[in-house]
Amino acid sequence: MSAVICWFRRDLRLTDNPALTAAADTGLPIIPVYIHAPDEAGAWAPGAASNWWLHHSLEQLKGALAERGLTLVIRQGDSLATLTELITTANAQAVHWNRLYEPAYTARDTHIKQTLRTQGVDVQSHNAALLHEPWTIKTGTGGDYKAFTPFWRACRRLSDPAPPLPVPASLNAVKTPLHSDSVNALGLLPGRDWTDGLAAQWQPGEASAQAQLQHFVQAAMGHYEQGRDWPSQAGTSRLSAHLHFGEIGPRQVWQAAQQQLAQGGAQDSQADWVTGTDRFLSEIGWREFAHHVLFHHPDFPDQPLNPRFADFPWQADPNDQLLRTWQQGQTGIPLVDAGMRELYATGWMHNRVRMVVGSFLVKNLRLPWQAGEAWFWDTLVDADMASNSLGWQWVAGSGADAAPYFRVFNPVRQGERFDANGDYVAHWVPELAGLPAKHRHAPWEAPTNILSDAGVTLGVTYPQPMVDLKQSRQDALAAFAQIKKPS
Ligand SMILES: Cc1cc2nc3c(=O)[nH]c(=O)nc-3n(C[C@H](O)[C@H](O)[C@H](O)COP(=O)(O)OP(=O)(O)OC[C@H]3O[C@@H](n4cnc5c(N)ncnc54)[C@H](O)[C@@H]3O)c2cc1C
Repeated sequence: MSAVICWFRRDLRLTDNPALTAAADTGLPIIPVYIHAPDEAGAWAPGAASNWWLHHSLEQLKGALAERGLTLVIRQGDSLATLTELITTANAQAVHWNRLYEPAYTARDTHIKQTLRTQGVDVQSHNAALLHEPWTIKTGTGGDYKAFTPFWRACRRLSDPAPPLPVPASLNAVKTPLHSDSVNALGLLPGRDWTDGLAAQWQPGEASAQAQLQHFVQAAMGHYEQGRDWPSQAGTSRLSAHLHFGEIGPRQVWQAAQQQLAQGGAQDSQADWVTGTDRFLSEIGWREFAHHVLFHHPDFPDQPLNPRFADFPWQADPNDQLLRTWQQGQTGIPLVDAGMRELYATGWMHNRVRMVVGSFLVKNLRLPWQAGEAWFWDTLVDADMASNSLGWQWVAGSGADAAPYFRVFNPVRQGERFDANGDYVAHWVPELAGLPAKHRHAPWEAPTNILSDAGVTLGVTYPQPMVDLKQSRQDALAAFAQIKKPS
């Protein structure tokens, strides 16, 4: 008997899964394998919210494979040693997997590929996660891109992505199933109180990802251009965690968007559909760009791309007191607190608010962007090394195509503009819900009688602002001026 191994990693789906299709094409019985090896991620082992998602996603994958007669073999420990043991036990001829792009994984996978090939195993890797892999997009001089617009223009000049693959028609199982650990045995569920909030919000797995994609393209893509900026509205796709875990792939997103455009674009509001689709696909482009930057700058999650920022005079924060206040959503700045509480309660935060809370941490509090990045890494269900480091370096002004450092988001103005009725703040900071909308973003400016009518006592029922927004902005700009000086 011989077999072929399909090594699932962050491609937890059966549709548009090139590794699974290639394994099926061999005609051999397939052993689907998941190996839990968080140590192999180096310093960036997945955080608590990611682990929660992974647990449920593996359960879904296991069920989907079982419906087709395959048993997902779950193991823990060193990936190479585990694969070697499985290859020997099952007399496997070949191993297929879909590529990952984080530096620790590319080094590990290269080593595994070389080692197994020298042992005569046919090892093939595939692309399931990106429209264009990082090394395929090059500047005119053959380098990598540092700015999004020319990067995306270069991508768009290429032909459209290949249509997604269906689930392979025939998936042969091995006669004697191999031993598998249970998903529970991986110990991914932390049992912390907040997992109830995650469960109320999310349904991991391929079926739910497909449903969410369809719902978004039909209901929201036509007004994405405006809707994407309002944190109280369901104006964005909420596909980020599904994409991160590979429960859905970008080729599928691309195709669904184009098909819906063809239908929706025929309506009266054709221009909205065209701009909405274009803008949505360009966000998928930002995801591609993040992977491009990380691949070409492997220390991007830890080091500022602009080396001048290595000398930035960050503020001292004994016992992480400032950081904790920010993490707990107790800064006294309503939009910031709303975002941080949404994050902790649901494992997700709206993109506009991510920018606002990030700017507040890095500029108004002058704490290092790496501290915010680490908190997001632990608490976001969509925590993704490429997108998270790009987001934080963008906010800090130190990254690729970053916001200039002097652009300090004013959380009050941002709230007045994108949460004009104060609904988002009222939802996540209910102690301010009794205030009239126009005072919800700056309660410290509200007249005393309005505060008392709303049951708000600053410093008692809701914190006083932890910093003066104007002064801290000026301090940030002064600190920035120091690193601008030639050394
Ligand atoms: C400080 C900061 C940290 C971030 N950390 C992450 C992270 O860890 N993981 C993550 O997936 N995104 C991250 N983002 C990007 C963005 O906020 C999320 O992708 C988005 O909010 C997810 O919601 P959505 O799926 O509804 O997005 P949509 O607006 O529907 O966008 C569709 C998809 O495009 C991709 N995308 C959208 N915006 C970006 C972006 N700016 N950069 C890269 N990809 C993007 C995502 O895959 C997203 O699912 C971060 C942004 C900031 C400012």
